[in-house]
Amino acid sequence: MAAIKTVGVIGSGQMGNGIAHVAALAGFNVVLYDVSADRVKSAMATINGNLTRQVAKKTITEDAHRQAIARISSADNFDGFAGCDLVIETAVEKEDVKRKIFHDLCAVLRPDAIIASNTSSISITRLAASTDRPEKFIGIHFMNPVPVMELVELIRGIATDDATFDAAREFVTAMGKQIAVSEDFPAFIVNRILLPMINEAIYTLYEGVGNVEAIDAAMKLGAHHPMGPLELADFIGLDTCLSIMQVLHEGLADSKYRPCPLLVKYVEAGWLGRKSQRGFYDYRGDKPVPTR
Ligand code: NAD
Repeated sequence: MAAIKTVGVIGSGQMGNGIAHVAALAGFNVVLYDVSADRVKSAMATINGNLTRQVAKKTITEDAHRQAIARISSADNFDGFAGCDLVIETAVEKEDVKRKIFHDLCAVLRPDAIIASNTSSISITRLAASTDRPEKFIGIHFMNPVPVMELVELIRGIATDDATFDAAREFVTAMGKQIAVSEDFPAFIVNRILLPMINEAIYTLYEGVGNVEAIDAAMKLGAHHPMGPLELADFIGLDTCLSIMQVLHEGLADSKYRPCPLLVKYVEAGWLGRKSQRGFYDYRGDKPVPTR
């Protein structure tokens, strides 16, 4: 297997722009794509802004900033991935969307290229089975925000071969991240623990035990969490939180993972958290205001 030099990123949302940022900074060429051309444009602006902030904080040089930007190009369609050694899918947390992406991607990708998914919860074995190369498929699960968080989970599907695992480990290490290896079970390690806590915080709100401010203050001041669970849910994206709870509920068939009906209601309203300006907080003014 050739060394990884060029990395494709499918999906230019908050995770896609973060992955492109850290990969380019670590010296990889990056090809960025999104079904929405506007998302690619705003991802490039976000990456530039975040790199500028790193220069101001003196964590990187201006030269590193310039070189990282020069390494990122955008693709209008999947043909842009033909020269990639690794392609990371980080589109919405919907299995049918991901399966369609893999189907279209395999048609243009080199046979020796690796495919990874940044899924938060969906079975790597099942996603791998929708490709023409299950042995070259792996879960590379970044944390949000990617440039800041130290951890990446690596998840092998049942067929993932050692060469693919080693190449993924090398790639993640080159970006300065620490690795936790997880078995391929719903939501892996971090989200198996984190999401039921967030879901429980939403039940606590739903049942009227506390309001948004009380619940977040309780966990920040009482458990020393850097963000309250509802603030964190808004940061992750409520659609992503709901999808992860659904995968846990269906995959483990245990009622303790039942998504809170209030979470379902927010998602149905299109109140997805920070990315849509409204979730458990309203972000449209100068400072966030609780919506309940
Ligand atoms: P997001 O909503 O910010 O971005 C998703 C992007 O995917 C959007 O720009 C959308 O236009 C694009 N997209 C949708 N369908 C597409 C398609 N067919 N082809 C190409 N692009 C398409 O979501 P996000 O938070 O960046 O999450 C992306 C993935 O990363 C999900 O699988 C999620 O579970 C995972 N993840 C999220 C977090 C988090 O905290 N938000 C953390 C780790 C992993």
